[in-house]
Amino acid sequence: MNIHADVKTAVDPHKLEKLAEVAIQVGLQLQRNQDLVITAPLAAVPLVRLLTKHAYMAGAGIVTTFYSDEETTLARYAHAPDASFDKASGWLYDGMAKAYEGGAARLAIAGDNPMMLAGQDPAKVARANKANSMAYKPALEKISNFDINWNIISYPNPSWAKQVFPELSEEEAVRKLADAIFAASRVDLDDPVAAWKEHNANLKKRSSWLNSERFASLHFTGPGTDLTVGLADGHEWHGGASTAKNGITCNPNIPTEEVFTTPHALKVEGHVSSTKPLSHQGTLIDNIQVRFEGGRIVEARASKGEEVLNKVLDTDEGARRLGEVALVPHSSPISKSGILFYNTLFDENASCHIALGQCYSKCFLDGASLSQEQIKAQGGNSSLIHIDWMIGSDQVDIDGIRADGSKVPVMRKGEWA
Ligand code: ZN
Ligand code: ZN
Repeated sequence: MNIHADVKTAVDPHKLEKLAEVAIQVGLQLQRNQDLVITAPLAAVPLVRLLTKHAYMAGAGIVTTFYSDEETTLARYAHAPDASFDKASGWLYDGMAKAYEGGAARLAIAGDNPMMLAGQDPAKVARANKANSMAYKPALEKISNFDINWNIISYPNPSWAKQVFPELSEEEAVRKLADAIFAASRVDLDDPVAAWKEHNANLKKRSSWLNSERFASLHFTGPGTDLTVGLADGHEWHGGASTAKNGITCNPNIPTEEVFTTPHALKVEGHVSSTKPLSHQGTLIDNIQVRFEGGRIVEARASKGEEVLNKVLDTDEGARRLGEVALVPHSSPISKSGILFYNTLFDENASCHIALGQCYSKCFLDGASLSQEQIKAQGGNSSLIHIDWMIGSDQVDIDGIRADGSKVPVMRKGEWA
């Protein structure tokens, strides 16, 4: 254990307990006798202990946690033989997949240092990521196909906090990031469970409107952006709480501000510029500019992390195509905080975004009963990766385009029209 006493006290224990409660009750709706698999950075031990307590209070079967640690990850890059970077702990992921098949829920705690691998050889990072993605696929599919109830929350890891607030002392940085996490996760309110109910109802109203419009495509315009995103045949918009195939209604992301659906993998045209830096597995990729032709990225540039970006795009055929498009108003609470979190869970909820790679099968009408072939035929993308990046700002307009070519304003200057 390596948690500095000052840092530990910088996190309000009462709000941390509320976060654990919200994660178990709202995020997962963990059921009696349901098992739970948690993944967490080592610094998040105080939160894991509270989650475990609330999980058992809710009647959990068995709770199992897997920890990751920055120093042990870096030890591999410093000392492991070259062949190590094509390996992954497949046996562990097979075990996780087996747990999910057996009905376990999954909870991930985000909060790794976003710049952890910044100084490492991009080729090794890419190889390690690819090996990991391939090994993780069977377990990840249970999550991306929404077979099980799952949830991601975050913990103010000191190395992450220092990245977000470099000018502050470690203790102050952790306190400030903790407060931002608690506010965005709505656990600083008197009744967080009721607040989430209301928030879910609002997101539902937005997704229902988009579903009733049945747009054929969305057209984004803004500085450096003129992009038409065709939507998949039979796409369905989602947001907030949704019901997994195991029948449990959960909130996969806490926080969440987005409504999102599946683009058509072959029908994306034009160019788009990112509006916030993307932290991807320890590397920062900034000022992304890409051009699409027939749904495929044919040109990609970035002012920072371009080599990593291009390696990511070469992961497989689907890595150059879109698997998600999501709408978030510029006035979302996370956006209003003005903080750049360098963490997708937060930054994607401050801005409209698109994701490269794997689509969500639940974002189709009757998605649970569609086969992989049907999803592909309707325009759903498949890939080992799913990487969200931010394309929204107060300068971006979005029109919905109907099948007959008529246009409906969806967002103006980053707000719902
Ligand atoms: Zn998203
Ligand atoms: Zn996404």
